[in-house]
Amino acid sequence: MDSANTENAGMDMTPIMNVFNEWHAANTSKKIRAVIEANERAGKYRAGFALYGYIKGTDEKKLPIRDEPAASIVHRMFEMRASGISPNKIAQTFNDEGILTPGDYKEQKLGIPNTQHSHHRWSCTTVKQLLQNPTYLGHLVQMRTTNLSYKNKKVVKRDPDEMVTVENTNEAIVSQELWDKCREMEASVSQGKKTATGFVHPLSGLVYCADCGNKMYMKYNNNRHSRKGPRIYYRENYCCGAYEKFGPRACSSHYIQIKILNQIVLTDIRSRMSMVSLEEKAAREEFLRRNEQISSRDGKADQKRLNQAKRRMVELDKLISSVYEDKVLGKIPEDVCVGLLKKYQDEKVTIKATVTEIERKSSEAGKDAADMDEFIKRLKAYMDVPELTREMCMELIDFVTVDECPGKYSKEPREIHIYYKLIDKSAKSEQLQSWEQNK
Ligand SMILES: [Zn+2]
Repeated sequence: MDSANTENAGMDMTPIMNVFNEWHAANTSKKIRAVIEANERAGKYRAGFALYGYIKGTDEKKLPIRDEPAASIVHRMFEMRASGISPNKIAQTFNDEGILTPGDYKEQKLGIPNTQHSHHRWSCTTVKQLLQNPTYLGHLVQMRTTNLSYKNKKVVKRDPDEMVTVENTNEAIVSQELWDKCREMEASVSQGKKTATGFVHPLSGLVYCADCGNKMYMKYNNNRHSRKGPRIYYRENYCCGAYEKFGPRACSSHYIQIKILNQIVLTDIRSRMSMVSLEEKAAREEFLRRNEQISSRDGKADQKRLNQAKRRMVELDKLISSVYEDKVLGKIPEDVCVGLLKKYQDEKVTIKATVTEIERKSSEAGKDAADMDEFIKRLKAYMDVPELTREMCMELIDFVTVDECPGKYSKEPREIHIYYKLIDKSAKSEQLQSWEQNK
């Protein structure tokens, strides 16, 4: 630091000079940041090299350009995730197939040394990070991270609303639909538990105890005739998780064989499929009815009320202006005028609330119809599937609840409820509420 004359001055200026120096550094750092931010807001691509799947463009803004074959790998990754495959499994598959990691690809394609990773293998984290990057939608999101300050270079993630997003800047690799499906999978209740042989049961993680609301665990039963004899059967079943962990005081077993539950679910899905293929119109009505509380049942009455309300609003505006006129012309006294105005204004407020409510309802009904279309589309996609698959359960089912077993030899019926995605929103929220209350 510049301290040539500090000693001569007879007092130690160092602390003060330090403050100035720091201030200068902080200020420069701020200025540089401001320039970077301005460039990013203008949609200029700042990264040193492009994201995996793209190469840096040569135009002024240096916008990323789609790069085959990496782009097709990216697309495949999103498709795998959307079908319910975990990031870990995706990484494993890519490693098995010998697909180059983004770092290695960059090194071979662009000659940029890969210093970050020495193991040359896809990891779960890499896959997860790529799956979260909105650049693949064609949007440029920059300043996803920041340093704490000019002194502390620790990289921290910014809040999404602090990031700079410029939409539709570059070529997309994935569609919004595919992107949304991946988000749906992430929000899904289940990641799926593998059996000893690495198989994930179709309903794994989707089965809940109807009484206590806990997830049901997968268990095995081995039975042999004699200790040395061959294994006769190998049974897999689901049991209430609370019972498994804390015993009969917490809940009862709710035991059900996986094979049987799968069969029940498959039969139910098939009956819906045949409904759709035989009489699609009736099926649509039935699916819409399932979201009853926000159904289009009273749509017509609502439309009538909406028209009435809008007409009344026009009338009220006319009345209000005529009151003003009458007042100006001296036809009515002050207090009557004030009273009338208040009355009309109050009525306007009430009507406005009604209109908002009806419009909200009708837009939700529209959403229901769109959801139902999506559900039918998904059903149709699995029309010819010979057995229950993991993929179809993840796409169609939110969760399944299993009631208590009425006893080994009882002929009492036992209830299994299937909560479908998209069409069972109201039943689902009711069920979740009842579990909440019983806690
Ligand atoms: Zn239970």
